[in-house]
Amino acid sequence: MGVTVAEILESFYGMKNGRYPKGVLYLLPTEHHMQRVSQTKIQPLIDENSGTLQKWIEKTDSIAQKRIGQANFILHGMGSRISLKSYSVDSVRFDELEEIEDWTHVALAEERMSHSEVQWLGKTIQGGSVHRFSVPSLPEYGINSFFAGKSSDSGMGYEIEPSDQRYWLLKCPACGEYTCLEDEFPECIIEISAKDQKAIRVCRKCHGELDISKGEWVAKKTGQRAVGFHISQLFSAYVNPWKLLDQYRKKKNLSTLYNDKIGIPYIESNARIEMAEVLSLCGTQRPLTSFPGPCAMGVDQPKEEGQNFHVVIAYKKSEQLKQVIFVDIRTTWADLDNLMRSFNVSRCVVDGLPDQDKARAFAERFPNRVFLSYYAEKQKGAYRWNEKDFTVSSDRTESLNASTAAIHDSKVIFPQKSEEMVTFAKHCHNMARKSQEDKDTGQVRQIWVKTGADHFRHAWNYCLIALEEVAVCRDKTMTPPPPPQNLAKSYAVNLDFNKRYQGNNVFRPTKPPHGSKLE
Ligand SMILES: [Zn+2]
Repeated sequence: MGVTVAEILESFYGMKNGRYPKGVLYLLPTEHHMQRVSQTKIQPLIDENSGTLQKWIEKTDSIAQKRIGQANFILHGMGSRISLKSYSVDSVRFDELEEIEDWTHVALAEERMSHSEVQWLGKTIQGGSVHRFSVPSLPEYGINSFFAGKSSDSGMGYEIEPSDQRYWLLKCPACGEYTCLEDEFPECIIEISAKDQKAIRVCRKCHGELDISKGEWVAKKTGQRAVGFHISQLFSAYVNPWKLLDQYRKKKNLSTLYNDKIGIPYIESNARIEMAEVLSLCGTQRPLTSFPGPCAMGVDQPKEEGQNFHVVIAYKKSEQLKQVIFVDIRTTWADLDNLMRSFNVSRCVVDGLPDQDKARAFAERFPNRVFLSYYAEKQKGAYRWNEKDFTVSSDRTESLNASTAAIHDSKVIFPQKSEEMVTFAKHCHNMARKSQEDKDTGQVRQIWVKTGADHFRHAWNYCLIALEEVAVCRDKTMTPPPPPQNLAKSYAVNLDFNKRYQGNNVFRPTKPPHGSKLE
């Protein structure tokens, strides 16, 4: 039985028995998801349970609403925020949470329970209950941040507290040892016969066969407020473990294997920039206050006036190699004007949003030099420069791929290490690429998502777009190249990274703490 079906049944039974007297708000990422769940999950459940659900539910014809007594089961897509406001419930369920596009709707949905007060099993429960469930994709993103926690950008503790992280641990009938299959995969599966596609799950200590029904849920982190369950096909009675092992050995669709089948976040090689990788590309160049150029400048606008502009300035040492000479923040548009002049910026790209008017005025002060960037979702090929209205459009995924590759392939030298460079590196690390399926067409595409503050990451992206239109800098007097031994060192560090990428990064759960109740 899938989690969706279990959650729907629990909602209906809870509404019938007084656990959710006002009802349950059941949320899906889009209207399309919602229609599909209604038709393929909810309606069949009602039809199959003629003695219970069919009798209890008064309003069965509506797709979006089912009523039991005074309690309403409301099925809703998370596309629009206004219509979320009109409900009051005792529980909110987020299904397929990983696909939510606008996370501000999450808080809005949870507010629907602010008036909830329920008497249940002799206790008063205030503020309702939230269930979140999904297939994971990236570490510290989406469902994984609720399950395993998300560290704050300032490095001070957690932004989202981890759940207690319960795993289904199997007890070995022979030696009594407990095995967490997710921790031990793929060694926990041993092939018996390739011809018959037969394999068994085994004990991590004595390699005796395990029975998936002989286990218990054990929390990896005790004393947490949220309860989390990790569900995987490794202990499913309906999945042949040989198939999981086979997929692993063939390295076929590894993100599907890890995310969808084992429930572990997974990052493909080259789908994220590591902080140390950026810092290993720092040369000896001190930050400059001016440069004869010609240079390119990338600017990420602040969300609100008065906050920081993130700026990256670079020039071309050769067609291939880029030298970054300025990574810093500024607070006004006038500051940007000064940078344009001091660094002889021949091409600047600034994001067109949110302050389009001021960005346009900035472009008009530097005609043919400042362009407003708009990310397009499906524009293949080259960047499109429009000299009539000073805009440039690029495919978001492709341009972010290109600025990632510049770092992965060591085609850039950054200024010497500094506090700003560490922030820059952190922002670079705070984006990761994942697959997303278009629910209407079934097409899978790659998208970059943010996992934390990412302003310099975009400024860097804009800077590289601008640099395409800037000539190689012939001036050799201003910036001596870093000494050779330093470059060699950077290269060695990068080789190390390549090795790690080949192995791919799989984020495994940690083992239960020593002295837990298993020992
Ligand atoms: Zn054993």
